[in-house]
Amino acid sequence: MADTRTPLVAGNWKMNGLTTEAIGLAAAVADGADGAPCTLVVCPPAVHLPLVKDALEGSGVGLGGQDCHPQPSGAHTGDVSAAMLADIGCGYAIVGHSERRTDHHETDALVQSKAAAAHGAGLIAIICIGETEAQRDRGETLSVVRAQIEGSVPPAANAGNTVIAYEPVWAIGTGRTPTAEEVQEVHARIREALGDVVGAAEAASTRLLYGGSVKPGNAAELLGLADVDGALVGGASLKADDFLAIASHSG
Ligand code: PEP
Repeated sequence: MADTRTPLVAGNWKMNGLTTEAIGLAAAVADGADGAPCTLVVCPPAVHLPLVKDALEGSGVGLGGQDCHPQPSGAHTGDVSAAMLADIGCGYAIVGHSERRTDHHETDALVQSKAAAAHGAGLIAIICIGETEAQRDRGETLSVVRAQIEGSVPPAANAGNTVIAYEPVWAIGTGRTPTAEEVQEVHARIREALGDVVGAAEAASTRLLYGGSVKPGNAAELLGLADVDGALVGGASLKADDFLAIASHSG
């Protein structure tokens, strides 16, 4: 890993937890965060952001939204803007998660506009990409992730405001992962494709996370790969001990 790429381990809590669980989980992550060899971030449901922010106070653990709208304000019922996330204390926004690409029919162009909105609000955009199982079976993984990088990353993105999360859709929540060799190869090719969008120097400094069934038991191998700069963690981020154990392998 390049010296310029501080490892990042982010927890995507998805639509899980009522207030008691959210506060408890955030407090447990905050308690164990000292000495983690990486930047830690948690991304709770939007309604819990203020409570989680309070629970993380002074811990150094970052806060992120799970999505943002491309517009700064307006008639968009149910949505949250990047400016609102920043205002409430977030430093990050996940955009283009496969569950949003599927459930809400989000296109690369929309994801790109969300990432640009996140940048405009001063947030680091965690832009998610990854192939489906059918695409993988057809041997299309590399072409799919290249197209997603070209379509989803704003050309003005840089290493300071952008993180890419490679999450094979078939690995999310399934307990299955690509082999370490496959992850390394895809990440190296993602970095190449990113270089064609933002320039080779920015791409070389941009953090690329792996996501999809990362657990304490496979974190050392996955996070030790040359082009893997951390993880986006779903299910295992709902248990503070597991999340922190994963993070412990990120240095
Ligand atoms: C995710 O959805 O971002 C994810 C990585 O989920 P999981 O870790 O549960 O596979």
